[in-house]
Amino acid sequence: MVAVPARADVVVIGAGQAGLSVAYYLQRLGVRSGVDQVVLDRGPGPGGAWQHRWPALRLGSAHRVHDLPGMRRTGITFETADRTRPARDVVSEYYGHYERFFGLDVRRPVTVAAVFDRGADLVVRTTVGEITARVVVNATGTWGSPFVPYYPGVRDFAGLQVHTATYRDAADFAGQRVLVVGGGTSAIGFLLELEGVAAKTWWATRRPVDYLDQGTLDLEAAVNAVDQQDEAARTGRALPSIVSGTGVPKTRRIASAIQRGVLAPRPMFDHLEPHAVVWPDGAWEPIDAVVWATGFRPDIRHLSPLRLHEKVGGVQVTSGAAERDPRIFFAGYGPTASTVGANRAGRTLARQVFAALGDTTVPVD
Ligand code: FAD
Repeated sequence: MVAVPARADVVVIGAGQAGLSVAYYLQRLGVRSGVDQVVLDRGPGPGGAWQHRWPALRLGSAHRVHDLPGMRRTGITFETADRTRPARDVVSEYYGHYERFFGLDVRRPVTVAAVFDRGADLVVRTTVGEITARVVVNATGTWGSPFVPYYPGVRDFAGLQVHTATYRDAADFAGQRVLVVGGGTSAIGFLLELEGVAAKTWWATRRPVDYLDQGTLDLEAAVNAVDQQDEAARTGRALPSIVSGTGVPKTRRIASAIQRGVLAPRPMFDHLEPHAVVWPDGAWEPIDAVVWATGFRPDIRHLSPLRLHEKVGGVQVTSGAAERDPRIFFAGYGPTASTVGANRAGRTLARQVFAALGDTTVPVD
């Protein structure tokens, strides 16, 4: 039976790329894992959100995972990862190996239900007990907070609707007419998987319809997307959906799918009817299912007792810390919500957390 300490200097919530990265750098600064800091994760095993992704997802075609800091020293690296195996298995194994190699103490499955301000201390309420902490690093990612935009008729649509978070297998759509919505790597991946399984697919995206024709990687769009996230976090606005603007690498597989007509983006539809999609020009087409690859929002409901939200809808985060409570740090949030961003931010954030602790790290019971 998993247990949590009654006290820790630092509680890291989430053992994905972001949480592990911060925990690793904190350990290097002398904030001992399992003693001064504890990492909590609600997942059954290692791998962060990757352990929950659909079985057909592979690393390498559209999706890439950046190595965790110091990973080369563990003897494995994602560069040489097996691209034929499910990404969720590979990432889970690699992260598990990493945690063991560096002795990072992750307590799981432990869900953080709420974090409270108790004056000098913070209290982290979990499913297995409460921890009193001086600093909390929130690294809970976005997987638990899928985002589906509102479009007229969505509620009346009679067919199957799934989001990236609930998509399991292309076979679930065998013989169906499927509308895939969204402009990121997940939408592209679903369209490729559905080819030859679904009876027909359509792809609706808010991106310019020719965006896949340009270059090998739309770096400018990726940079703009990070800038938008950064600006929102700095000003306390709600963060844009995480897939909203990142570049998509035009791999050979994607290029040939464009040529075959499998990846033929259309502008967003006008509305849905119970068994059909209606396009802006009035064209009406029968469909059986909709796959919403429309991204995620930060999963931070457990922080609501702290009242960190600004009137404009988001949490104002300056240099990784919440403006309203500088004891709450955010890893993998906004501009750092990518595997490379989470990694890079880990080092900076760990230093800031360390500074916030002063020079007195108190061992847990
Ligand atoms: P996560 O990996 O989501 O880890 C968060 C952890 O927090 C989870 O283990 C979860 O169990 C835990 N947690 C959450 N809430 C609680 C709670 N209340 N209590 C306890 N634990 C909690 N980025 C790329 O750079 N390349 C890609 O190819 C790529 N592909 C992606 C594909 C999909 C479908 C999605 C959704 C995202 C993708 N991203 C990609 C983004 C990337 O996955 C993330 O930015 C990065 O992996 C997130 O790491 P993280 O540690 O912030 O979050």
